[in-house]
Amino acid sequence: MKFRKTCSAVVFFIVAALRPPVAAADAGMYPMSELNRLDLAAAGLEVTAADIYNPDGTALVDGIVKLGGCTGAFVSDQGLILTNHHCAFRAIRDASDPEHDFLRDGFAAADFGAEFPAAGYTVRITESYRDVSAQVLAAVTGDMDPGRRTAAIEKRMKQLSLDYEAAHPGKRAEVSEMFPGESYVLFVYTFLKDVRLVYAPPRAIGNFGGEQDNWIWPRHAGDFSFMRAYTGPDGEPAAYSPDNVPYRPRKVLQVVRSGVGSGDPVFICGYPGRTYRQRSSFYLEHLARYTMPLTVDWYTWQIEHLEALGQGDRSRQLALASRIKQLHNTAKNYRGKLQGISRLDLITRKRAEEVRLQEFIAADPQRQRLYGHVLRDLEGYYRDLDREMPYEMWLRFLKRSPQALQVALTVWESAQERQKPEDERDTAYMDRNLDQTLQRLQVQAEHFDAGADSLLLAELLRRGGAFPRSHELEPLSRVLGPEGSAEAADMLAHLFKTTTLMDPQFLAAAMAMTPAQLRRLDEPFLNLAADLYPEYLRVKLEGKRRKGVLDPLRAALVDARRGFLGGRFIPDANGTLRFTYGHIEGYSPRDAVLYTPLTTVGGLLEKETGTPPYALPPRMRELVEARDFGPFADSDLGGVPVDILYSTDTTGGNSGSPVLDARGRVVGLNFDRSWEATINDFAWDHSYSRSIGVDIRYVLWVTWKFGGGVRLLDEMGVGLAD
Ligand code: ASP
Repeated sequence: MKFRKTCSAVVFFIVAALRPPVAAADAGMYPMSELNRLDLAAAGLEVTAADIYNPDGTALVDGIVKLGGCTGAFVSDQGLILTNHHCAFRAIRDASDPEHDFLRDGFAAADFGAEFPAAGYTVRITESYRDVSAQVLAAVTGDMDPGRRTAAIEKRMKQLSLDYEAAHPGKRAEVSEMFPGESYVLFVYTFLKDVRLVYAPPRAIGNFGGEQDNWIWPRHAGDFSFMRAYTGPDGEPAAYSPDNVPYRPRKVLQVVRSGVGSGDPVFICGYPGRTYRQRSSFYLEHLARYTMPLTVDWYTWQIEHLEALGQGDRSRQLALASRIKQLHNTAKNYRGKLQGISRLDLITRKRAEEVRLQEFIAADPQRQRLYGHVLRDLEGYYRDLDREMPYEMWLRFLKRSPQALQVALTVWESAQERQKPEDERDTAYMDRNLDQTLQRLQVQAEHFDAGADSLLLAELLRRGGAFPRSHELEPLSRVLGPEGSAEAADMLAHLFKTTTLMDPQFLAAAMAMTPAQLRRLDEPFLNLAADLYPEYLRVKLEGKRRKGVLDPLRAALVDARRGFLGGRFIPDANGTLRFTYGHIEGYSPRDAVLYTPLTTVGGLLEKETGTPPYALPPRMRELVEARDFGPFADSDLGGVPVDILYSTDTTGGNSGSPVLDARGRVVGLNFDRSWEATINDFAWDHSYSRSIGVDIRYVLWVTWKFGGGVRLLDEMGVGLAD
């Protein structure tokens, strides 16, 4: 094994040295509108812009879906979707109980009928897009106050979507802010609501290395799963029904077992969530001083206490599993970002750039008039926000962490919002989204753990003692007694004993009620939510007012930077369809350390200790030891490759994106980034930014050998013959 490693390292550097000189990959999550401006051939790609996106025909992106907050790809003409294990994690958990523990053992549907309906999961496929900036911005006038400005823009965005949907029944339309305050695009989607779980390996494979290896290279996780989209028998999108039939995608991505090697060009299309590269140094400083440390602190506390609660109790562990996983993922990501900010001295560097920007602005009277105030105003804006942040973060945690309070506030807010016309409601409460919102609440109710909730609520109340108790928060002490007192503990216990909220049937009824009807129920958490709501509403409206102040400043900053930097200007990621390209390549994270870009099954055995997160299922160990790799081994590497490293520009939301070779064939599945690349969301750089994916050969080998999934390989058209 040692020899192989050295060998592959040598091969990597020779290959890297011999690679034809192509420009190093650039930062860039390109919207489809930018594709024609890129030199794809120079990036080593054999596909054209029209092969990737083609409004007049079919193209690769027709086979790529937004799956909740992740991405996935159609890999069969029966709606089979390849995505990450961590993207299907909640569905696997929902299918599980201590007797049928699919998280532990893996899930394999024997046939279509056994596929598990993944409540709350949805699929979107981008059909088309068009710029609607002029229509959106026509809704605002120069003299509008900031709160009204935000409300007017939001309303116009919703009107445009609803108008489109009314004229095109069955389609979903959404207006996305590309550069807030400046450019808006209407995206049209096919929107599917019946999604099912087909195959997932055990967590010990899908998440091998667990939190220790998360955001880290070298990696050996088989982070993949298969899901399937269904439609009504007429082929139209429909809610779950046993009569539904597999969706027929317009485009199926070709899965190949030829694999990739060091130096090969690759590209990714997917739905990256959010990046913040166009933002000011003041914003970054605000995040680094408040948002991120406060979040890390609270999440770490929760992880420790929730994990302790689950000790020795499998059903409780299952109930809390998704939550704990998300808390870990975000906390570790923020730690990586905070380290990256100081390692790169990012705030100072951004500040220095802003000094040069200010000089550029001042050099021209017209620019000075338009933009001279922008940086100063942004600084003032964030200084004000700094002061509010600790309290507002606490309030946000109070709303999000204890599930019963979160559910109660959602039900109450829904009743308030449903009094308004559709285009003035928050998105979650628009008629078209109410089913999804209710499903989300019902999933929470099904996995409700009152013990965990009361622990979190008690701790948040203790922490709330640090803030001068505002008059608006009195309901909390009224319901729960003076913080820290024995009386408060009793009242908390009483609250959880008497609540009837966390019941799926009750929630379905409550979500159809008016505020007055909800009040009459006299349900303790709903009462608490109703009493707290005015304070949440105040903060929400204050958020909209702030957005109304911030967006014009952000738009002006982007304008000024466009002139200052020259050239193209790519909008930050915002959950819409993007393209990025790069190469399979390693990097040097620090002095004297060089990473090669492929790991192998041999590395699984090296890492294995027998104790989670490094405990393979015994059968998996046997399969690796038997070296029964079929056609999936890489002869140079001497085994099946497990994970791959490459220089694309990705972020959260790209999880589950297919990694495509020069010809647009599926050779991997994106699921993570390396430790140094957690800072990408603020600053991408070729020297340290690497994405991590599962090699498709590992996906196929595990599905076939471990999962017994020849059916799926056949369905994807992947043969086993040499
Ligand atoms: N693993 C990541 C996530 O949690 C993917 C990424 O951010 O690159 O979304």
